[in-house]
Amino acid sequence: MVGLEIVQVPVLSDNYVYLVHAPESGATAVVDPAVSEPIIAELARRGWQLTHILNTHHHGDHTGGNRKLKAAFDLTVVGADNDAARIPGIDVRVRDGQRYEFGGHQAQVFEVPGHTSGHIAYYFADSDALFCGDTLFALGCGRVFEGTMTEMWTSLDTLRGLPDATRVYCAHEYTQANAKFALSVDGTNQKLRRRAAEIDDLRARGIPTVPSLLGTEKSTNPFLRADDPAFAAALGMAAADPVAVFAEVRSRKDNF
Ligand code: ZN
Ligand code: FE
Repeated sequence: MVGLEIVQVPVLSDNYVYLVHAPESGATAVVDPAVSEPIIAELARRGWQLTHILNTHHHGDHTGGNRKLKAAFDLTVVGADNDAARIPGIDVRVRDGQRYEFGGHQAQVFEVPGHTSGHIAYYFADSDALFCGDTLFALGCGRVFEGTMTEMWTSLDTLRGLPDATRVYCAHEYTQANAKFALSVDGTNQKLRRRAAEIDDLRARGIPTVPSLLGTEKSTNPFLRADDPAFAAALGMAAADPVAVFAEVRSRKDNF
């Protein structure tokens, strides 16, 4: 089977919307359409018919285009069963562990609460692609608005369990600011230092830093390192519970 074709559409100030196209069946999904017009234009350019909306969470910069796209196409809106009341136009409700079949490909659904209570992620194992919305970012993670620190850490730990070769299609280009923060808590990490330099170079040339590889996130993203004893010790939190370390890093970032 041919892998999914994934097109990154930058919208608003720093959002990424993704078109996911299954060449064999012609099915085309949009992940987290913040807006509708640029998506309709990109679909027209490629000659693709939109068949699905996959929403990760209810925030307006992820669902703002749902209604207009649903009016313009014969499509199915997929979102969290847990948060159905806040997903505009939802047709299919999905839950943790479920496999949602999209155009001959399987999307594995993970419930990843924390940023919002009903946040989900979609993982296409056959294409090494993870759509994680505002849960995991390149070198960062989403703010914990609705869930607990325990929930957010558990959610990140779940995503971290996927293969290193997984490409992390997060919903924002926050990487350069995240790198500055990451260096403030993990400045002796040589892999992080090299990555931060690469990110500065990419951004100076206007190139997206997303998607990143999950394997790279595991070794450089401070929010995935809360259970690393050396990292905790460097924060003055040797032997602390990973949730406490995660909460400390998250609160430092909130105030950075
Ligand atoms: Zn959000
Ligand atoms: Fe967002």
